[in-house]
Amino acid sequence: MTSEPEYIDRLGPLLGRHGFKIKMPFPLSECPPGWLPILDDLLVELRRKGCRTVAQVKQKFGGLRVNLPLRASSQAHAAVEKAVGRAARTCEECGRPGRPREGLRWVQTLCAACWKEKAAARKARAQRAGRRV
Ligand SMILES: [Zn+2]
Repeated sequence: MTSEPEYIDRLGPLLGRHGFKIKMPFPLSECPPGWLPILDDLLVELRRKGCRTVAQVKQKFGGLRVNLPLRASSQAHAAVEKAVGRAARTCEECGRPGRPREGLRWVQTLCAACWKEKAAARKARAQRAGRRV
């Protein structure tokens, strides 16, 4: 599992490269590695539509969330919807085709291989915890 500071380390340079500012306190934003190319394309689209600020980027309930400032245009919101749809079919860890998976600590959009790996790691952690009790 990638830790939150690593997400922030990746998100910061990407936003900077596109000349974007993030409005909310930075630690609240993150982007899983498999979705960075989607966010990259989205930032290009948003800039074309005159939007240069995002309020927040995160993964929630297995989906990509990109919150725009209140004044963002409907075209900017449409670009976000397109990216969210793409993320829903893309493994958030590796970028291969995926879908929302349950049975982990929280819902994650994963390919079969990443899902299997995470489920095995979770099972191993549970077994280790069980032995200690
Ligand atoms: Zn994957």
